Amino acid sequence: MIYLDNAATTKIEEPAFNAMLPFLKEEYGNASAVYELARRSKKAVFEARKNAAALIGAMPSEIFFTSGGTESDNWALCGAYETFRKKNTESAGHIITTAIEHHAILHTAEYLESLGVSVTYLKPDSEGFVRPEQVLEAIRPDTFLVSVMTANNEIGTIEPVREIADAVRGLRKDVLIHTDAVQAFGQIHLDDLSKHVDLLSASSHKLGGPKGVGILFVRDGVKFSPFMRGGMQESGRRAGTENVAGIAGFGEACMLSFAGLDAKISAETALRDRFLAKLSNITGVIVNGAYSEGNFTKRLPGNISVCIKGIEGESALIMLDREGICASSGSACATGAMEPSHVLKAIGRADDEAKGSLRFTLSHHNTEEEIDQAALVITEIVDKLRNGKKHL
Ligand code: PLP
Repeated sequence: MIYLDNAATTKIEEPAFNAMLPFLKEEYGNASAVYELARRSKKAVFEARKNAAALIGAMPSEIFFTSGGTESDNWALCGAYETFRKKNTESAGHIITTAIEHHAILHTAEYLESLGVSVTYLKPDSEGFVRPEQVLEAIRPDTFLVSVMTANNEIGTIEPVREIADAVRGLRKDVLIHTDAVQAFGQIHLDDLSKHVDLLSASSHKLGGPKGVGILFVRDGVKFSPFMRGGMQESGRRAGTENVAGIAGFGEACMLSFAGLDAKISAETALRDRFLAKLSNITGVIVNGAYSEGNFTKRLPGNISVCIKGIEGESALIMLDREGICASSGSACATGAMEPSHVLKAIGRADDEAKGSLRFTLSHHNTEEEIDQAALVITEIVDKLRNGKKHL
């Protein structure tokens, strides 16, 4: 098998897996209790909090564990709304986000619209970039939240989130700034991002940790409604007995990413460029996302998103699967639906082009041999599909 779908999820790193094991068996203490067994669970949660905080230059006390990126995004938007409504009974307020967010943001924004909130969905340029000026132009007196993703899950474009946050902050101190960093966390240097934004979402299974764990970073001093009510876990902001094993695995994955980030970035970049050079030999390949000169560095190191003329991405995926190659067409969460992806539409791809989209997301664990083999198979598949054949 050649696994090229790391934006959908990653294989768990061995040390992360090992870090979880004790907490699934003998270390079963409830982190809220007072005895030694429980203190060991509590310590594991604290260590993980420190490791997650380090990736974005935050303080451990600003990290709140959740069940994953989706929950963190829901909490960010709904929490901001509740906080706003406590002070503003007259207006339901206004949110600014982008047309290329993950559905965890878009569907939550739609839900808030059903409660009366106005939402502006900013349209990116043809490479997927949203500019700070666009955000400033969209701000209204009743805007209470700006949510722009750090990097896009489909096309890999890295947004100028720091610049956007600083521009908004320069204009208005009372607007919360959130970023969905699920695809960027542990993949690129985010070092000081926590100094620019108020809220940030990340997810463990995108960086070699287990599924079902994530964080919401809430900047110190930000007034923000809790999401889950109940016990006093996570400083009373996110109640529920902690998923200690998951959190411990996530913490270990964060530590590995922190220590090995430069090596990981250069390995993925080299593999991506090798792959892209081979794919570019196929006629009718258009690269999606940040690609033009000067912008190529503003792209996630492992992301290749292309539209290939004259083929259907879904058919290519099935043929790739038969050859043991895992990839995706558009967003993994949207796979199965034949609708062209909202991201490709937003950057101006025609329906026909968007249907021929394929996404390959590499990891530093992939090898040059895998990349060469995958490129060869794809070239053959494109040839067959263009000649009306559905089998290799
Ligand atoms: N946000 C982005 C940008 C994502 O890519 C994903 C998952 O693909 C999510 C949110 C949801 O994260 P999770 O799978 O942890 O719920």
